[in-house]
Amino acid sequence: MNATLIESWQNANGAGLSYLAGLALLVGLLAWLAVEVFRALLRLNGERIQQKVAVEKLRAQLQETRLRCREAEQAEAGWNGIRKFSVFKKVTQCDDVNAFYLKPHDGRPLPAFKPGQYLTFQLDLPGRDKPLIRCYSLSDSPHQKDYYRVTIKKEKNPPDKPDVPPGAGSSYFTDMVKEGDILNVKSPTGHFFLDMTQTHPIVLLAGGVGITPMLCMANAIAASGSKREAYFFFGVRNRREHIHKEELEKLAAENDNIHLHVAYSKPGEKDVKGKDYQHEGRVGIELLKEVLPSNNFEYYLCGSGAFMKSLTDGLEAWGVPDSVVHFEAFGPATVKKKAAAPTPAETSHLQKVMITFARSNKTVRWEPGLENLLEFAKSQGVKIDSGCCAGGCGSCEVAIKSGEVDYLKKPDATPNPGSCLTCVCRPKNDLVLDA
Ligand SMILES: Cc1cc2nc3c(=O)[nH]c(=O)nc-3n(C[C@H](O)[C@H](O)[C@H](O)COP(=O)(O)OP(=O)(O)OC[C@H]3O[C@@H](n4cnc5c(N)ncnc54)[C@H](O)[C@@H]3O)c2cc1C
Repeated sequence: MNATLIESWQNANGAGLSYLAGLALLVGLLAWLAVEVFRALLRLNGERIQQKVAVEKLRAQLQETRLRCREAEQAEAGWNGIRKFSVFKKVTQCDDVNAFYLKPHDGRPLPAFKPGQYLTFQLDLPGRDKPLIRCYSLSDSPHQKDYYRVTIKKEKNPPDKPDVPPGAGSSYFTDMVKEGDILNVKSPTGHFFLDMTQTHPIVLLAGGVGITPMLCMANAIAASGSKREAYFFFGVRNRREHIHKEELEKLAAENDNIHLHVAYSKPGEKDVKGKDYQHEGRVGIELLKEVLPSNNFEYYLCGSGAFMKSLTDGLEAWGVPDSVVHFEAFGPATVKKKAAAPTPAETSHLQKVMITFARSNKTVRWEPGLENLLEFAKSQGVKIDSGCCAGGCGSCEVAIKSGEVDYLKKPDATPNPGSCLTCVCRPKNDLVLDA
């Protein structure tokens, strides 16, 4: 009996213990599961927060990249209208020639430009009711991202006209503009530039202050690391006019592919041949024939009218095709690209064209021999403002009330709709101008 009782007590106790053990296991399991779920939730939450932070970071990076892209696009495209630049350095080069280093006043990036292009300045000269507009070529490398540089020569009065004032714009720069001044500047422009994607050897021909776009081209070649062969001829009177002398010599010394040939037409007593200059005399076709291995080059010219005329004539006689000769005129073009001669029908049509200067109340017959409307207006005593006389600065723009014009070459400046740049166009038919 006792044994039975003990056995049943033992059985009951065993089942209770098993039950308790099972319960404890279940509770433990549930607790472990709860902890794991809690941990997983914590991890998920952490991951979600991290993802959110990463997404925010990406969004910020995307915005930053978009901003940089927009800035780069703006920098590439230039700016519209006028931008303020401050002169942070003015360096005298030689007699009446100064280099001006310009930084954008807004501190934003500078647009890239093509070597050979120029800046247009709107100058507020004392005593003038309208700004004076003048163009100056960029003279430093386009790889120079921090500043622009122009090099300006003060234009004296013509020797046969002692009573007229010296050049207004260049005198203002030379005598008045100083470090810290702010200038109004239009975006770099111009069709005369060196195509840096090409590798054909080039000849740079510069006379006097015409060195500026050429120096820019040579600087661009050197800064790009290109091995493009460049013969660089520079003609001045003597050392007193040797603009950017040290920079030129450094360029030639550091770049085997840039061959510098400086010619002095009137060397000074202390000027040393072989050191300051290589040739005595002018830069002419004979010098080119003496130095160049052949005539198989692309040619870039800038200098006085006489300089360019003599060289373009010489190159033509040497068998150099017109298509590889490029030039920039700092004033009214003295070299004319050969245009197809007008047909007799065109000539007789132009002889009948009538020009009306509405404001001046004048109607006159066009003279077919004339180059452009600006010249014609002046010959008729009609005053039209002018600046570069090369279609670049826009000073001579006049509204066309009726009629059409023809451009001899595509102007650098774009005239406003319904207007024309009188320095580089001729009438196509009867014209009424707002002048
Ligand atoms: C695309 C381009 C790039 C250029 N780049 C450069 C450059 O890098 N560096 C540079 O130095 N120049 C450059 N120039 C030339 C520059 O734009 C100016 O034409 C030059 O500085 C002369 O302008 P000015 O206002 O000083 O002279 P202006 O006032 O236009 O006078 C011109 C001449 O006329 C004379 N004159 C004034 N009044 C009379 C009168 N009543 N009768 C007769 N004559 C008179 C003056 O004495 C002077 O000799 C460039 C021109 C162009 C078109």
